[in-house]
Amino acid sequence: MSSPLLALTPEGLFCPAGGFHIDPVRPVARALITHGHSDHARPGHHAVLATDETLGIMAIRCGETFAREKQAASYGEAIQLGDVRVSFHPAGHVLGSAQILIQGKHHGRQTRIVISGDYKRQRDPTCLPFEVVRCDIFITEATFGLPVFRHPDTRHEMERLLASHKLFPERTHLVGAYSLGKAQRVAAILRETGYDRPIYLHGAVDRLMEFYRTRGIDFGELRKVSASDRSKLAGEIVLCPPSAISDLWSRKFPEPVAAFASGWMRIRARARQRGVELPLVISDHADWDDLTATIIETGCSEVWVTHGEADALVHWAQTRQLRAQPLHMLGYGDEEETTEDGAEAMS
Ligand SMILES: [Zn+2]
Ligand SMILES: [Zn+2]
Repeated sequence: MSSPLLALTPEGLFCPAGGFHIDPVRPVARALITHGHSDHARPGHHAVLATDETLGIMAIRCGETFAREKQAASYGEAIQLGDVRVSFHPAGHVLGSAQILIQGKHHGRQTRIVISGDYKRQRDPTCLPFEVVRCDIFITEATFGLPVFRHPDTRHEMERLLASHKLFPERTHLVGAYSLGKAQRVAAILRETGYDRPIYLHGAVDRLMEFYRTRGIDFGELRKVSASDRSKLAGEIVLCPPSAISDLWSRKFPEPVAAFASGWMRIRARARQRGVELPLVISDHADWDDLTATIIETGCSEVWVTHGEADALVHWAQTRQLRAQPLHMLGYGDEEETTEDGAEAMS
């Protein structure tokens, strides 16, 4: 038999022998979802298999009725679907994020394929660390797949925020951070660096913060910003969605310092364009060094690159004698950028 274990369809990656799609961009009969960001976790599928945390996040973001049937997968648990076996493994990206391992016949040969979803190797106190899963074919994204992207140590970036906070006690620091994953990571690392004042939250980051809290992640004292508060928050740190830092909303704060926590802040022009005074290079994606190191660690002989800076990564893999191809998949990108920040495409 010469059928592939995984094929590219208009809906996304499809496993014919298992009868399921992975992170499909259109409604399908059975979807396996790697994590809760909106470009991967869409509502309207008949059946969804994902980690319990991802199911919880989807219910918050898309409503309880996001799928007819929901099944929770524990990390490491082998699940038989048709003729293939699947399992979920930590991706270190956001709470509940998973790589999906598929084992079955690929063109007649027993093969292990890992779909990594989005992942990072940097430490993150709000989710389980990335687990290296040995495989024959590794499927990766390449959002930051250029050698120019090297993410600095997150604590160092956080110390820059605290230095600014100390320098400008009469101003409010507004930190733009995506509501799923980034806001929680920033809050948790702020606590690790010893910041002990209440952390203020824009309404849009509040619900997911609470969800993380129910899953045992401690952020110390959090306070929701009310409209009447804003003018009184001199000397405080406020977490808000990235779009809010340039909104009318931000202008009521005393001399706000606009900060933005994103891997894109490595590019000065992007920071300037968005009016960001304090760019913080904090990313939930792997940088160039981590992308290439991870490919080697999986022991794979073949790499498929879903989206992002695919060409450079494919070229690098080929120089390492790996088979590599770009998939040019549409519909994936910088997660929440499109849904929460209007139509701006960041990838
Ligand atoms: Zn993501
Ligand atoms: Zn993504």
